[in-house]
Amino acid sequence: MPKKRKSGGRTGSKGGRDSGVHCTKCGRITPRGKAKRVTRWVSLVDATIGKELRDSGAIVPSRQVSEWYCISCAIHTHKVHIRSSADRHKRDKIR
Ligand SMILES: [Zn+2]
Repeated sequence: MPKKRKSGGRTGSKGGRDSGVHCTKCGRITPRGKAKRVTRWVSLVDATIGKELRDSGAIVPSRQVSEWYCISCAIHTHKVHIRSSADRHKRDKIR
């Protein structure tokens, strides 16, 4: 049977069992290789206050937050998009 995706929709190694991660949105346990991770920087202070502090020369702390999404939630929240067969074969980075 033909495969829709060469990787089977997973990242990482080809075989074996992945450990599970909890989806940030719905809480479903998804294999790590199949879930989508979204990493973003979160400032510890409010945006307007942070801008004022930065303008006055202070260093405003911020930290990275990683969120895991199951495929259903990743598509529903527009983190990933459904692509056509031709687009899936393109090698550039997924937006
Ligand atoms: Zn989910």
